[in-house]
Amino acid sequence: MPPLTTASSLQRVMTCQHSLVLPQVRNENRFGAAGTQIHEYLAECLVRYRKHKGHGFELPNTDGYQDGAAQVCGLISLERLQTMRLSLNPEVAYSYNLRTGVAKVLGVNVGRAAYGRSTHDEITGTADVEGICDGLSYVADYKTGFTPVPTPRDNAQILFAALCSMKTRGTDKCVAEVIRIFPSGAISSDSAVVTKRDIDRFEDELKSLTWKVRKAREGKSQPVESESCKYCPAFNHCPAKVTMLQRFESAEIGELTDAQVASVAKRLPLLKDAVSRLERIIEERVENLGGLDMGDGTTMRVTYSEGAERIDADIAARVLAERYGEEVAAKAQNPGMTKKSLREAVQSIAGRGELGRLEKEALQAIRDAGGMTRGITRKLVIS
Ligand code: SF4
Repeated sequence: MPPLTTASSLQRVMTCQHSLVLPQVRNENRFGAAGTQIHEYLAECLVRYRKHKGHGFELPNTDGYQDGAAQVCGLISLERLQTMRLSLNPEVAYSYNLRTGVAKVLGVNVGRAAYGRSTHDEITGTADVEGICDGLSYVADYKTGFTPVPTPRDNAQILFAALCSMKTRGTDKCVAEVIRIFPSGAISSDSAVVTKRDIDRFEDELKSLTWKVRKAREGKSQPVESESCKYCPAFNHCPAKVTMLQRFESAEIGELTDAQVASVAKRLPLLKDAVSRLERIIEERVENLGGLDMGDGTTMRVTYSEGAERIDADIAARVLAERYGEEVAAKAQNPGMTKKSLREAVQSIAGRGELGRLEKEALQAIRDAGGMTRGITRKLVIS
């Protein structure tokens, strides 16, 4: 039987239980697969580090990894990773039972096989790294994409790992760390010391999930929109999104009061996400049908054209790191590698009157390294 949910979905499920009970549509993208390979690589590095007591070990082979993942692995400097310590374990899989409050270690570095025997009363999850440091529990979570991540104190995934580590080891404090690995191999981390009191509070919230999920199943609560909607597998079936889009369709903007305009403006980012996901859903449907009869003698079709130039974040980060240093490369990737963020990063090192030239040179160097592509743009056309 599957668990109630997994730690990686916990942030979203704690905010909106409907994301768990509505029909799900899942897509594994190539960035997700690359992230999994980087996690595997770091787990294997820690295994070898421990075996050789931190000295003279051979790095794991990355043949067969996606290009981006292999490059990032090659660029990570292990000496800068706090997680390479003899006392730590890679990939510790846990289950936590919401009814009994018991946490169990399901396996260490055994991948998804560890989750085989979970029940619907349980939440399962894996700490990328776990162990005891200076008498305290220590858990770390690697992040490889650009998705914003809450700080450890507000991060349900890392708090879940901390809860399980503290319960299974009987500790009363835990250092919880989120470690970001950038495509340039640069590393940044955010950590917090979590006390038993923090964890008790988090556990109370976790336990309340049982009745909250039941209420959502019975239709006695409403979906709660948040930033988590962006990656929600129930998005296509979410009544809140349908209502939001219908309201927008019927809105007479000119007739809104100032207060209503302010309220719409606050929800604008959620609305933009909803519209762009809706657009993709319609495109896929029309593409599969080969054309949609609009019921008025016209047909909607998908047309294709060459898209705007896009920057390959991994290649660009490598080129920028080589030319201008890690700091500029990291800046250009925050919040995502675009021509705008690249310009801002280059600006930070440009002398007076140099920005235009440096920017052109950087873009050309990325192009020369094969880091610029043109995608295909899909467009819906009615004729
Ligand atoms: S899209 Fe947002 S509001 Fe709808 S179910 Fe998912 S998380 Fe909840």
